[in-house]
Amino acid sequence: MKMILLNGKTVSASRLQKLKELATEEFSVSNRRPGLAVIRVGDDPASKIYVSRKVRACHDVGFNSFECLLPSHVSQEELIQKIKEFNARSDTHGILVQLPLPKHIQEGSVISSISPEKDVDGFHPMSLGKLVAGEQTMIPCTPLGIMTLLTEYGITMKGRRATVIGRSRIVGRPISILLDQAGATVTVVHSQTPHPEALCREADIVVAAAGKAGLVTTNWIKPGAVVIDVGINRLASGKIVGDVDFENVAKLASHLTPVPGGVGPMTICSLLENTWKSFKNSSSH
Ligand code: NAD
Repeated sequence: MKMILLNGKTVSASRLQKLKELATEEFSVSNRRPGLAVIRVGDDPASKIYVSRKVRACHDVGFNSFECLLPSHVSQEELIQKIKEFNARSDTHGILVQLPLPKHIQEGSVISSISPEKDVDGFHPMSLGKLVAGEQTMIPCTPLGIMTLLTEYGITMKGRRATVIGRSRIVGRPISILLDQAGATVTVVHSQTPHPEALCREADIVVAAAGKAGLVTTNWIKPGAVVIDVGINRLASGKIVGDVDFENVAKLASHLTPVPGGVGPMTICSLLENTWKSFKNSSSH
């Protein structure tokens, strides 16, 4: 069987092109553009790269971006004050705080201070609660990007067995809920699960989000399974790899995402789609 590469780069590029057309048309009619505030605290090199990609993507589709860089010693109160300013601004439709934050800042309090209407990362307790309740909400960008990729490639989720590796608030848990809502029977494995490979081997769809290079080898995968690799791991050589042993799993899987070029670009695409959604919601009020 020939494996189909799930190309997040091309899917994301074509969806962003559509968004650009919508934004151009909107600007010509209303003279308004969607605006995304991106707040970064400190000098974490990975965060710097992620933020610059998000800002560039905004620029490419014709959205405004407002980058706010705060020093690593900024107090929680000052950070929350900055968020409140963006909450109040009518030119800002999405607010993103790049994680992780320095240890002296409580992530939960910061995320909760973002206005739920502008919570384009979908991490606010209100957004997550609505997701669990099956209500319309902002869906966290990586899980949303995965669902979009599966849908774009016509992969059936209904009636299939899915195993999610990892249960984090930003990836594992929300994607397990979305797959469940799409009609899959979902198993979640994590660092406390005995023999996670046995539970993965039963799955038609595997989502690997553990952050462990090379964790998912061929004995985790049923022949013909769809494999989504969310992991981003930097090897000592500097090379970026996922959680999946790509070369060998590619011989077994029916579909597989590359790293880089799979889930990563879909995450950015979802961020801009969420910002567009928030912008449209704000204009309908
Ligand atoms: P996290 O550290 O918060 O969570 C990791 C999860 O994996 C935990 O639930 C843990 O229990 C589980 N886990 C760890 N080792 C395991 C093992 N041996 N077997 C089974 N489960 C195990 O990480 P996260 O924020 O969810 O991110 C996961 C990975 O995805 C990271 O590599 C991260 O960089 C990457 N990521 C990528 C994108 C993207 O856009 N591509 C977005 C977010 C995160």
